[in-house]
Amino acid sequence: MKFNTKLIHAGTSEDKDTGAVSIPIYRSSTFHQHKLGAEPKWEYARTGNPTRQALESLIADIENGKSGFAFASGSAAIHAVFSLFSSGDHIIIGNDVYGGTFRLVNKVLKRFGLEFTVIDTRDLKAVENAIQDNTRAIYFETPTNPLLKITDIKAVADIAKNHNLKTIVDNTFATPYNQNPLTLGVDIVVHSATKYLGGHSDVVAGLAVTNDEKIAEELAFLQNSIGSVLGPDDSWLLMRGIK
Ligand SMILES: *Cc1c(COP(=O)(O)O)cnc(C)c1O
Repeated sequence: MKFNTKLIHAGTSEDKDTGAVSIPIYRSSTFHQHKLGAEPKWEYARTGNPTRQALESLIADIENGKSGFAFASGSAAIHAVFSLFSSGDHIIIGNDVYGGTFRLVNKVLKRFGLEFTVIDTRDLKAVENAIQDNTRAIYFETPTNPLLKITDIKAVADIAKNHNLKTIVDNTFATPYNQNPLTLGVDIVVHSATKYLGGHSDVVAGLAVTNDEKIAEELAFLQNSIGSVLGPDDSWLLMRGIK
């Protein structure tokens, strides 16, 4: 499927029960349990909601990923992704990431024992030099917000792989229309869908996508545990915005 076709037909292209090509807004917090002990597809909407799931499969498809996750904001998506790591873990972070990401890192995550080194990720030597024994990941934007600095995604992902680190890219500014970081070897892509993916300044939303099954399992667990999920109305608006 070419990209423009994907925007219309990828993800969940019809509602299974009705054939509706615009996925209905399932405003239901809870789903009927027909059998005691059975594991139904839908249970409780923090864990999963059909409208949110349609958006999650759409962003996975247009990012060339396997698993997508929708959050209440870009910041919530980034928080959930950083929650993959534990106290004492070290993360290398680009020096021109979104201001709210710096705030999350410096004022919140550091209080929970995550360690960060801020560098210019355009400088591959600086990336290598920042790696420590407890480094687990490299996080950057390209182009950055606000200065539009460009990092060589594949080069950084290659360095990360050599050192057994995860690479995380905030793809908000380029959008999947212009680049697919997962295809270049990145492990997780995050988005503030509030910007270009929404496109109409009427929704605040965040997305995360991965190809890695273990990361997907952990992200699903964190999304459900932290609970900063995107509601069905905003999920529908975002699918419309992406189209
Ligand atoms: C806006 C923005 C965010 C934060 O997203 P919100 O949806 O506002 O929480 C994160 N990264 C980048 C690059 C942004 O522009």
